[in-house]
Amino acid sequence: MTDSPIHDALDKLAAATTEQVIGWRRHLHRHPELSNREVNTAALIAEHLRSLKLDEVRTGIAGHGVVGVLRGGQPGERVIALRADIDALPVPDECGVDFASHVVDADYPGGPFPVSHACGHDCHTAMLMGAASVLAGVRERLPGTVLFVFQPAEEGPPVDERGGAREMLAQGVFADPAPTMAFGFHVTPFPKGYLGYRVGNQFGASCLVRIVVTGQQVHGSTPWLGVDPMPAVGAVLTGIGQLYRQVSAFDPITVSIGHVEDVGRFNIIGRTVTLWGTIRCAVESDMAEVRQRLTTLAEHTAQAYNTTATVDYLQDVPAVHNTEEWIDAALPTMRRVAGADRVVQTPATLGYDDVSEFVNNYGGLYVTLGVQDAELGDNGMPVPAPGGRGLAMNHSPHFYADDDTLGLGVRLHAHVAHDHLTGALAPHLP
Ligand SMILES: [Zn+2]
Ligand SMILES: [Zn+2]
Repeated sequence: MTDSPIHDALDKLAAATTEQVIGWRRHLHRHPELSNREVNTAALIAEHLRSLKLDEVRTGIAGHGVVGVLRGGQPGERVIALRADIDALPVPDECGVDFASHVVDADYPGGPFPVSHACGHDCHTAMLMGAASVLAGVRERLPGTVLFVFQPAEEGPPVDERGGAREMLAQGVFADPAPTMAFGFHVTPFPKGYLGYRVGNQFGASCLVRIVVTGQQVHGSTPWLGVDPMPAVGAVLTGIGQLYRQVSAFDPITVSIGHVEDVGRFNIIGRTVTLWGTIRCAVESDMAEVRQRLTTLAEHTAQAYNTTATVDYLQDVPAVHNTEEWIDAALPTMRRVAGADRVVQTPATLGYDDVSEFVNNYGGLYVTLGVQDAELGDNGMPVPAPGGRGLAMNHSPHFYADDDTLGLGVRLHAHVAHDHLTGALAPHLP
């Protein structure tokens, strides 16, 4: 309870919506959809937003993006964009709940893939739908405008498709009205009910890398009559493991090749091998250097094996940057919502999130919500809680998020939105 009637009203409305939020979350978890294929997810969201009689419900933005516009009944110039990503991942669901996904997307490029919400975007979507109910319930008391932004393809669309936050901006999602603050949060393997934040880069910079090594196809018994790309690929992979020697050890980077695609057969030396990977940099300025060194490594290593390599960088996503001013402005709200002892600083991560396109351009912040059976060790890092389900990273088949954390997320959206619109949560401008 707080000393403000409207904060109490937000909490009461949030409590009233929790059961419905859990229901949406379980439904979405059971019916996940991959990036740029979020057809039914978007339909569910739009139907709910329309039922709330928002001022506008915009659909089909950057594929299956949905934006609800709620204009408050009080005069006010501020505009908050609350953002949830809605897409799932090509990961099997082994999180062990009875609403686990058995979905397989047979038609997705590169598939068929098992599909699951292994990054918890089912929770993000359901919590923001709940927040829309809450804020619509107090609309006459709100100054300013709330944008409920349901974003597709956060995990990256198929490489020959456009999508995600940048595409939403390109399609004018914030042309009118433009937000004065963008806000969101990600569920993480952290103690349930804890909010994590970091001043500086909350999530790292990322880009997708594609390396195509080309040789000359030939019978597997006569490699000398063609050019075998496989040894070059082996050498490139080994070399990538040494790239870190060329970048400051004080700024973490990773280069991970998660997918190798060949066109050969056990008795055919194929012409090409394609490597798909991701580069992550804690400090954005390292990205150009890592790219250049990786290109040099791939091209010259390929040459040493009489093959060629082409290297492309796709889907670059800027780091999510939280400024001290916005964190300072938001901390009182976060502490009121979660409890002061449950709002903690977290270390940098090399995860990425294209919410950076919103936060970096319009101001605001992006934080994390703990959803697992964990407690904080002496060094402030999460450790499994005794008797719990353990820790499972996002994107793991075992990733899980407990339903009893969803109400907190609904309240966080609602309180942040209200406080920003009233001016209580806004950075002090010089
Ligand atoms: Zn993810
Ligand atoms: Zn995610």
